[in-house]
Amino acid sequence: MINMRFAYNFLILSILFICIWFAYIGIKGNAYYKRTFRWLMWAGVLMYINRLFGIAMEENYISYNDFMLSMERVIHYVLTVTVYALYAFFIYCLIDQFHYFSRLKKLLLFIPAILIDIIIISSLWTHLIFYVEDGTYYEGKLFYLMVFIRGAYALTATAHAVRKRHLLPGIFGQSVVLVAIFAIIQAVEFFISYDETLYYSTLITNIIIFLLALTVVEFYKDGLTSLLNREAFEQYAAKEIGKRNNKAVYLIKLKNYEYIKENCHETSLLSIIKDLAECLKEYTMLPSIYYLGLGRYAIIVHKKDKFDEKEFLDKLKDRLDITFDLNGVSIHLNLFVAIMNMESGKINKNNFFKYVSACDDIKYRSKEAIEIIYCDSLGIDQLQRYRNVEEAIERALVEKEFRMFYQPIISTEKQKVISAEALIRLNDRVLGFVSPEEFIPISESNGKILEISEFVIDSVFRFVRDNPLKDMGIEFIELNLSVMQCMDKNLTEKLKYYTDKYQIDPKQINLEITETATNFDEDRLRAQLGKLKKLGFNFSLDDYGTGYSNLVRVLEYPVDIIKLDKTIVWSAFHDRDNFITLKNLISMFHDVRRKIVAEGVENEEQMNALIELGCDFLQGYYYSKPVCEEDFLAYIARHNIM
Ligand code: C2E
Ligand code: CA
Ligand code: CA
Repeated sequence: MINMRFAYNFLILSILFICIWFAYIGIKGNAYYKRTFRWLMWAGVLMYINRLFGIAMEENYISYNDFMLSMERVIHYVLTVTVYALYAFFIYCLIDQFHYFSRLKKLLLFIPAILIDIIIISSLWTHLIFYVEDGTYYEGKLFYLMVFIRGAYALTATAHAVRKRHLLPGIFGQSVVLVAIFAIIQAVEFFISYDETLYYSTLITNIIIFLLALTVVEFYKDGLTSLLNREAFEQYAAKEIGKRNNKAVYLIKLKNYEYIKENCHETSLLSIIKDLAECLKEYTMLPSIYYLGLGRYAIIVHKKDKFDEKEFLDKLKDRLDITFDLNGVSIHLNLFVAIMNMESGKINKNNFFKYVSACDDIKYRSKEAIEIIYCDSLGIDQLQRYRNVEEAIERALVEKEFRMFYQPIISTEKQKVISAEALIRLNDRVLGFVSPEEFIPISESNGKILEISEFVIDSVFRFVRDNPLKDMGIEFIELNLSVMQCMDKNLTEKLKYYTDKYQIDPKQINLEITETATNFDEDRLRAQLGKLKKLGFNFSLDDYGTGYSNLVRVLEYPVDIIKLDKTIVWSAFHDRDNFITLKNLISMFHDVRRKIVAEGVENEEQMNALIELGCDFLQGYYYSKPVCEEDFLAYIARHNIM
C-alpha cells in the first residue's frame, strides 16, 4: 500500500512538472531572471525526486543502508541551499531589470551557498551538518548554520524587494514582495516544525506567485529596450503624479525617428532605439526609465534619487556629438527633451497627460542636437495647437486643400521677372490660414512632409508644363525642399517620375535646399545632390544667414544661387557694420561665381541698396506677395513686356 505521505509528495512533484512546463512555454528569452527561474524549477524537481526516494526508504518500500540515507540528505540539503540562493538571485535579477547591480555583487551572492554546500558534502565524513547512524538521522553541530544561511538568503532578498518596491510598477512590486514574504514563511515554518510536507506546499504557492511575477514583468517591460513600457508609465503616472515623492519627469523624443523609419531598414531603427535606451540607463543610473514607443522615452526622477540634471544633459549632449551607427552609415541624432518639474506644483494629476500628449508632438524649433523645453513655462494651449495643425494637415491632404502660390523673383540686371518661388498655402476650414512656417516643421516631424512634397512637385511641374513660362521670360521656378525631403531616399526617383510625367526640362526647376540639411548627414546629401544634378536639376541654397551658415562648407555643394535670408537682409539696414559685412559677403560669393537672391525686399530704399550691393535677384513684398497661379501669370504678363 502506498501511504498518504508518498502520494501527497508525488502529487506535488506532478504539479511542479506542470509549472516547469508553463515556465518553458510561457517564459521565453534569455534574460537573467528568466534563466534563474528555470534553474529554480529544475532544482525544485531534483529536490522532489530525491525526496520521493527518501520517503520510499523511510517507508521501507526499498531496502537501504546508512550511505543511501546520507546521500539522500546531502542532495536534499545542497538543493535546498541552492534553491534559496537562486531565489535571492532571482529577486535581485528581477529588480535589476529596473536597478543596477554589478555582476560582481551578483556572483558574491553565491559564495555563502557554495561554502555551505561544501560543508554539507563533507558532512559525509565530518558530520558537521548531519550524520546517519544505524538508519537514524541526527543533526550535526553546524546544522543551524545551514538553516541560518538559507534564512539569510530569504531575508536579505525580501528586504531588498521591499525596499525597492517603489521602483516597480504597481502590481509587479506587490508580487515581488509577496514572493519574498512567502519565502520567509517557508524558512520560519521549516525552522519551527521541520515539517517538510508543509514546506513543500508553500513552495508550490511560491512558484505560482513567481510565475505571476514573471508574467507581470513581461507585461510591464518593453521587449526591445528592456525598459519599462508605456503601460507601466501610465499606471505609475496615474497613481503617483502630484504626490510629494516625485521631482521631475523627462520626456525624451528622438526627432529623427520618422526620418529613420521612412528611410532605413527596420533593424537600424531598432538598434538606434536600443542604443539610446542604453545611453539613458548609463547616464541616469535610474530604474524608472520608460520606453513609450515611437522613439519616445520618459524618465521619472524621485526626490530620493541621486540625479543631477545638468550632468545628465551634458552627458547626453556629448554622446549626441558623436554619430550613431545606422547599418554602416553614421548619422547624428537629435533629441527633444521636455522637462516637467513636479516641484513647481503647476503640473498635477489632471493636466499631466495633457502635457505628455502635447509634448509628444510639439513643434520643434531648434536645430541643435538637444532641444529642451520646460513644460511649466509653456501653456498647454500652445502645445495643443500642434495637434490641431496636425489635423489640419491631414484634412488638407485628404480633401486636397493645399495650394501652390508663386512669388516673383526679379532680375536686377534685366529689370524683369526671371523666376518665382513656389510656396505652399494651407487655408483650413477650421483653423483658417496656417503658415507653412508652422505646418512644414510639424509635417517633418510626423512624416507627412513626404506626401506634401509629392503634392508640391506634382503641382509645380504641372504648372510649368501648362504655361509657356519660358516665353514669358521665366527661366526657372524655385521649389523648396525641406531637410527631410533632401534626405528622402526616393527623392530622385520621385523627381524623375514627375519630369517624365509632365515632360518638363529639369533645368526649369531650381531646388532650394536649406543649409540645415548639411548638418544632418553631409555624405548623404552630397550623394543625393549628385544624382539630381545628373538628372539636370540646379540648386539654390536657402536661408543663408540663419543658424550657423558656414561659408566654406556652402561652397562644397553644387549650388548656383545663394538666397540671403530676409533677416540678414533687413539687419543690413539697421546697422552700418552689417551692411558692410553683407557687401563683402556678396562680393565673395560673386568671386566664386554664385548668384545672389535677396529675400524680404519690402520697400524702394531696400531695393536700391540691394542693387547697389550687387544682388543679382530680388524677391519680396515690394514686388509682390506670393500669389496664386493666375495672378502670377497676370503679374508677369504686366511686367515682362517683350
Ligand atoms: P522660405 O523658403 O524662406 O520662403 C520665403 C518666405 O518669406 C515666404 O514665407 C515668403 O512669403 C516670405 N517673404 C517673401 N518676401 C517677403 C517680404 O518682403 N517680407 C516678408 N515679411 N516676408 C517675405 P512663407 O510662404 O510663409 O513660407 C515660409 C517657409 O515655409 C518658407 O521659407 C519655406 O521654408 C517653407 N515653405 C513654404 N512653401 C514650402 C514648400 O512648398 N515646401 C517646403 N518644403 N517648404 C515650404
Ligand atoms: Ca525658400
Ligand atoms: Ca528663404
